[in-house]
Amino acid sequence: MTSCSCEAGHDAGCSALDTPNRRLFLASAVAAGVATTAGLSTSPAAAVVAAPDKRKFMEEATRLAIESVEKGWGGPFGAVIVKDGEIIGRGQNRVLLTGIPVFHAEVTAIMDASARLNPKALLGSEYGAGTILEMIAREPGSPDPVPERARMLKGCEIYINGAPCPMCMSAIYWSRIDHVYFAASLKDTSAIGFDDAFQYEDFAKPWGERRIAVTENFEREVGLKAYKAWTDKQDRHPY
Ligand SMILES: [Zn+2]
Repeated sequence: MTSCSCEAGHDAGCSALDTPNRRLFLASAVAAGVATTAGLSTSPAAAVVAAPDKRKFMEEATRLAIESVEKGWGGPFGAVIVKDGEIIGRGQNRVLLTGIPVFHAEVTAIMDASARLNPKALLGSEYGAGTILEMIAREPGSPDPVPERARMLKGCEIYINGAPCPMCMSAIYWSRIDHVYFAASLKDTSAIGFDDAFQYEDFAKPWGERRIAVTENFEREVGLKAYKAWTDKQDRHPY
């Protein structure tokens, strides 16, 4: 396998190169409407300068990121979640402090905000009004086949000092956050040695062509028993 020429030292397929795979992914990502969100546009986007009331949120995300670096807790990534102009969740990368590979800023900010919006423990609770598990109707025109789902973090924004990795972007989808603001691009992140952009490319490939071996349809009937348990449950709570 050949190495790419970017500072990150990736093997072939690094996003720092304009490979055919990358172009294919970008085309599909644009078609799927995710490229803008993921910062994967083929040409650099113009810098967006925020009004001071919003800039302070990016400054706080960046403060958290720098703290993590200076204390040796993790990579240079921080995030804040904002609701009605107020920070309700903070997160910083703590992978090195914890030895937990998924301890990313966005995920921890989501957990922090979620804990704050839930006044009582989830297990055994009755999903009361005002919690993030309160059911809300789908939006008009939504392709969602389920008529209502848990609110989650709808109505919130997230500010991140660097583009979200695929795991964190997926966490943002699950959280139903309305708007993502990020500062540094995926290309900036690749340049300091992190793998986020390459993972986005891998996700666009068929299962059998990914960097990690994946066996699909492995004992499908066994796994589907749990799905049946869900569809058989009369009082299930869609989220
Ligand atoms: Zn992440």
